[in-house]
Amino acid sequence: MKKLSIIVPCYNEQETVELFIREMEKVETEMPLKFEYIFINDGSSDETLRVLKNAASLKENINFISFSRNFGKEAAMFAGLKKSSGDYVVIMDADLQHPPVLLKEMYKAVSEEGYDCCAGKRVDRTGEGKIRNFLSHTFYKVMQKMCKMDMSDGCGDFRMMSRQMVDAILELKEYNRYMKGLFSFVGFNTKWLEFHNVER
Ligand code: UDP
Ligand code: MG
Repeated sequence: MKKLSIIVPCYNEQETVELFIREMEKVETEMPLKFEYIFINDGSSDETLRVLKNAASLKENINFISFSRNFGKEAAMFAGLKKSSGDYVVIMDADLQHPPVLLKEMYKAVSEEGYDCCAGKRVDRTGEGKIRNFLSHTFYKVMQKMCKMDMSDGCGDFRMMSRQMVDAILELKEYNRYMKGLFSFVGFNTKWLEFHNVER
């Protein structure tokens, strides 16, 4: 059976990790894949590390990396990609804002439809403040203009990739990594799936 590595950056996620695993296990039973979890504790100041240690001691397919301090989500994702060994790799947030049910459609895109990548695109920002909303939107508009790359608003890091694409990203020797830029930079054909925002 093929393996899917699930990379989950975690910063102060003591309340969400176990719930996340439970929801993912439901999806796993409906997919022809072996799941491998790689959680990254990004220097959390709460009990995230303890929760992760406990989860890893209960299930052999649960692994974690723990950073000495908070390095940010970009660094966490990169460390996860490096450790991943799956035929396919998906990056997900711990707070279930990236709906696990989408994995089935993503897998179909990368395993049957000839895509190297299938990414989620959030179509609204319900539940987020007006100012943050405006700033995020403006940030992406400016980035898009400056970089001529596909990094539009709502396109997060929620994406499933082929091993080939992950290896291409890992070969880049960027020091300050902005993953959304790298995903786009390495080329490869991407399918976009829309989903609605949910509160964490
Ligand atoms: N995260 C992280 N390091 C950070 C900030 C966030 O690993 O410094 C993780 C966080 O635990 C979550 C994901 O990145 O799994 C997205 O973070 P959050 O839900 O706070 O962001 P948003 O929903 O606004 O994109
Ligand atoms: Mg979130």
